[in-house]
Amino acid sequence: MTQDLRCEEVIDKLLEYLDRELDRDTEDALAQHMETCRACFSRAEFERRLRARVRDISEAKAPDSLRQRIHAIMERY
Ligand SMILES: [Zn+2]
Repeated sequence: MTQDLRCEEVIDKLLEYLDRELDRDTEDALAQHMETCRACFSRAEFERRLRARVRDISEAKAPDSLRQRIHAIMERY
């Protein structure tokens, strides 16, 4: 069973796809589309990298990691 998606539909569902919020069929359809559509594939890669980067930044700023770092410094004294 193959669902034919248009690029607009793929872009439309891209964020949900990356968040793995889609049902199995839709997810497969998107993955299938990206195997043949370079434009959507690049777009997905771009979004994925952007998200990874945003996650890194927010983790670095998280109060917990800061507290841990301060704790580690204090233990040396
Ligand atoms: Zn496409």
